[in-house]
Amino acid sequence: MRAAEAKAALNRDHWEWDDDGAYAVIDPASLKAMVAMETPKVGETREQGCAVCLEGFVAGGKKLRMMPCSHSFHQRCIFDLLLRSRFCPVCRFEMPPRSADEPEPEPVAEKTATTSERVGSN
Ligand SMILES: [Zn+2]
Ligand SMILES: [Zn+2]
Repeated sequence: MRAAEAKAALNRDHWEWDDDGAYAVIDPASLKAMVAMETPKVGETREQGCAVCLEGFVAGGKKLRMMPCSHSFHQRCIFDLLLRSRFCPVCRFEMPPRSADEPEPEPVAEKTATTSERVGSN
């Protein structure tokens, strides 16, 4: 029986995993297409929760984004994925690839305090 092996291979089709378990950047989505995704409210989505982190959508909680294929996720979760691979994690819908003239993405994280500017009195 090699069905399990074949299935595992299929699942890994668009994903390349590093040794530490993080998937590598292989095919990032267009940033323009990402920010153009709809921002549905909780209750307006087909899903009850995010397929990336498996948390349920909570009204007034994290911002949501709906891909053109109508699959919705937490913005932060799907952006994080699309920066590495432009395929919908649910149905493998293809987002447009990032073009060469698009700049490197800024971190999606909401207001992370940067300590790099801190100057210590020495
Ligand atoms: Zn999520
Ligand atoms: Zn999809």
